Amino acid sequence: RPIDEIVQARHLLEQKNEELEQFASIAAHDLKEPLRMVGNFMSLLKAKHSSQLDSTALKYVDFAINGSQRMSQLINDLLDYAKVGSEQVPFDSIDPEPMLLDILSLNDSLITEKGVKISWSNLPNFRGQQTAIKLLFQNLIMNGIKYQEPDNAPVIHITGKELADCWLFSVEDNGIGIPAQYHEKIFQVFSRLHSKDKYGGTGMGLATCKKIVTIHGGRIWVESKEGEGSCFHFTISKSV
Ligand code: ADP
Repeated sequence: RPIDEIVQARHLLEQKNEELEQFASIAAHDLKEPLRMVGNFMSLLKAKHSSQLDSTALKYVDFAINGSQRMSQLINDLLDYAKVGSEQVPFDSIDPEPMLLDILSLNDSLITEKGVKISWSNLPNFRGQQTAIKLLFQNLIMNGIKYQEPDNAPVIHITGKELADCWLFSVEDNGIGIPAQYHEKIFQVFSRLHSKDKYGGTGMGLATCKKIVTIHGGRIWVESKEGEGSCFHFTISKSV
């Protein structure tokens, strides 16, 4: 029957997807160590032997250091993406406040350096996968801090409320904003619209957020105008 074929095809696809994600995760792990060596030895060369290098050689060393840092970020982001949903993780009760405080303390020096103001009000407890939800908040908050005009102090406000069948959270920033034609596209893997050289980034963060939200039976979207900040909303279903 056609319906059986569809079920079978879907099962096969899910299996292939899982294999691919496992492959990505193993490959990314194995890439990390040699890359760390390149970065560390290049930094050592610069720190201890720069007097023996001319300005061109020093420029090449800097290129290699920057390149290995970018690649390391990409591997970490790929690993995050692959890890989400790759195993059955239990759903726990989550109190968002200590989770947010933890995110702030992990990024303490950046927050102080950029003069970030971050606040939240009346966040409800909800159910979800602790590690994935923390990554979701962290990605949205860090984007709000990153996508800013150079001299603007980032202001981030987080709200949340319980609805009949889900919880709804929003992370709002006062940054550079996103033109309407990119509002859907930015959630695809490797999708970026602002200059890599100016802002850094790999284009994986929001794709990972979308994957996390989907696992939680929810939806993620953005409201934003260029130059007027952005507000990312996501829902977490009560019935997953
Ligand atoms: P990246 O690693 O490049 O930050 P993301 O997947 O997190 O990747 O975001 C995709 C793109 O969406 C970014 O490159 C940026 O152009 C845009 N973007 C994401 N968050 C924001 C934000 N808060 N304000 C403005 N632009 C954003």
